[in-house]
Amino acid sequence: MILNKNIDKFVVCTCGSTEHLIRLQLFQWMNKYGETTDVDVSFEIHLVSNYSFLSRLWIGLKYIFGFKQKNGHFEDVLLNRDKAKEIILFLQDYVNSGPVDHE
Ligand SMILES: [Zn+2]
Repeated sequence: MILNKNIDKFVVCTCGSTEHLIRLQLFQWMNKYGETTDVDVSFEIHLVSNYSFLSRLWIGLKYIFGFKQKNGHFEDVLLNRDKAKEIILFLQDYVNSGPVDHE
């Protein structure tokens, strides 16, 4: 298969921090006749925190001993309506861009 189309899109958190972002990728594959054979889409959620060594050690120790944080181990990427529309348009492109999925 040959990579025909590659869309790489980043949606930054509404808080403005580039440490909280979603990477959306779409790969459209074709055969040697130029026919679309497969379309793959992926979401990567990036949540980067730059803690000091001691902070990371403390977090690790709490994790090892099973300490549960109030909000769990997750952070979030906040979306406003415009960013949600960007994701919807991306997924709309995915839904309309290739052959029917094989189940
Ligand atoms: Zn954020």
